[in-house]
Amino acid sequence: MTIPVTHDSTAVDTDIRPLTMFGPDFPFPYDDYVAHPAGLGSIPRERYGAEVAIIGGGLAGMVTAYELMKMGLRPIVYESDQIGGRMRSVSFPQAPGVVAEMGAMRFPPSSTTLFHYFNQLGLRTFPFPNPLAEATPSTVIDLKGETYYARTLDDLPEVFRDVADAWHKTLEDYAGVGPLQDAIRRRDTTTLKRLWNELVIRLDDQTFYGFLAASKHFGSFRLREIFGQIGFGTGGWDTDYPNSILEILRVVCTAADDHHRGVVGGCQQLPMGLWERAPASHEGMAHWPAGTSVSVLNGGRPRPRVTELRRTAPRNYTVTDASGEIRTYSAVVFTAQSWMLLGGVRCDDDLFPIDHWTAIERTHYMGSTKVFALVDRPFWKQRDPATGRERLSMTLTDRMSRGTYLLDHGDDAPAMMCLSYTWADDSLKLLPLNAAERMDLTLKSLREIYPAVDIRRHVIATPVTLTWETERDFMGAFKANLPGHYRYQERLFSHFMQEELAPRHRGIFLAGDDISWTAGWAEGAIQTALNAVWGVMRDFGGGTEVDNPGPGDRFAELAPLRLRD
Ligand SMILES: Cc1cc2nc3c(=O)[nH]c(=O)nc-3n(C[C@H](O)[C@H](O)[C@H](O)COP(=O)(O)OP(=O)(O)OC[C@H]3O[C@@H](n4cnc5c(N)ncnc54)[C@H](O)[C@@H]3O)c2cc1C
Repeated sequence: MTIPVTHDSTAVDTDIRPLTMFGPDFPFPYDDYVAHPAGLGSIPRERYGAEVAIIGGGLAGMVTAYELMKMGLRPIVYESDQIGGRMRSVSFPQAPGVVAEMGAMRFPPSSTTLFHYFNQLGLRTFPFPNPLAEATPSTVIDLKGETYYARTLDDLPEVFRDVADAWHKTLEDYAGVGPLQDAIRRRDTTTLKRLWNELVIRLDDQTFYGFLAASKHFGSFRLREIFGQIGFGTGGWDTDYPNSILEILRVVCTAADDHHRGVVGGCQQLPMGLWERAPASHEGMAHWPAGTSVSVLNGGRPRPRVTELRRTAPRNYTVTDASGEIRTYSAVVFTAQSWMLLGGVRCDDDLFPIDHWTAIERTHYMGSTKVFALVDRPFWKQRDPATGRERLSMTLTDRMSRGTYLLDHGDDAPAMMCLSYTWADDSLKLLPLNAAERMDLTLKSLREIYPAVDIRRHVIATPVTLTWETERDFMGAFKANLPGHYRYQERLFSHFMQEELAPRHRGIFLAGDDISWTAGWAEGAIQTALNAVWGVMRDFGGGTEVDNPGPGDRFAELAPLRLRD
């Protein structure tokens, strides 16, 4: 259910910026940094053309490769699956332009750095039909066999408003979200750090569920149960109940769960676009001739899966790939999920300091499964003459399907149904089933809710489905820190600041979704990519312009809180 914590993520007062994914742990203005005409920095001319290995061709890998190319370096990309990673849009020959978004599918405008890249590539977005969102004609909530139809929260029985109210009050009274958001809007880093650091100290050991249960507003188990089943913003969040409450507060206070937008034609166009785009010289492209893109520098295709990563003298990194090719680089950026370093890639024990290995080992991922079906047309828009309601609505339920989303591409065009989007245990329940069985199961749930509607009759292509936790190159959908994990996250995120590290540990950089503070949101993956770009630039003896300092230049001032024992 949409229980917006922030009613608006667009600027109201010209002096106050909208809510953005600015901090709260490391409040560096990545959006301003990428938009500044001075560019992200430069390297000495004598280093132009030097190779850097980029392991992983997802969004973080593509942003890193693109920006390092603009600085005059030659990114060599390794990708074991496909460019795009968890931004994977599956298309259908019989329906051009209609895609199933297997990973990321809805993006908050507060992801301002992400939207900078969307804009740079000319990608268009549309309001995503989340539960009870303005763009959603209607929402059906089906709990414990009871079905409720609503256009807004006010159409629902009072208990749902009680849940919304309890959530608002809990956020205010137990986490002070209002003042935090105010500090984010004003980009008042001193206040933001003071407020957020106090929460980190107080709540790092607390689960999402424990946080709710400790609130006087959620004294009733029924309210906690309903809140878990229908959640806020995007759907049921009880699968997140065991996670650290800090993970949830980051999402809430940066409006990451509000006003979502989808990408017309699919979000995979972003990493693909960065792979193919040839920046012009007026965009700050150093060294390379006109027409150079990351793809051109890689001969049109990435190198295959990395199988081995070793440090070799003198402070080099030697990468072996699945074809058996061995190449050596003075710098490497590793952007795949960090668990890949534990099994998928043979590594030296001493590649990272032991405390970083511990943080990698303790990383915790959420699983996720999606099931999509292409249908002949948005038949759900037809109204039932008896009730005047749409035949089918965006649906949240405690049944196996959990969340069903309806994506309309015009009255007479094929349409997409995300029949089921599940996380964690709900995803595991679907694991043993093949695509057809998964569709059967989700259609069974929907038949119980809409007995008069024959969805199957409209399906025109084999369903597509993906479970991220069983994918060899991912092993999970996205990181979700458990209570007590703050220290691990702080270590991984700060790894790009390498002066503290022994010289032998420098030159290899971690980036990507699970290194970020806001895993599960593409903005975080980009932020860590920009950290790695800054780190590599410094490693090559480069620096930023005085009027556009980078994340590392402002690290001492903005660094995430370091919790001691
Ligand atoms: C189900 C799901 C829903 C999501 N929903 C949203 C959303 O709505 N909004 C949002 O903003 N974000 C969402 N996200 C998060 C978003 O997709 C990620 O933050 C982002 O795509 C991560 O990019 P990345 O480059 O860090 O990692 P990845 O995309 O995982 O890229 C890493 C790449 O490394 C490759 N790789 C792995 N091992 C090796 C190896 N040994 N050698 C070479 N390559 C290797 C992988 O194949 C992969 O392509 C969602 C993610 C999932 C899974």
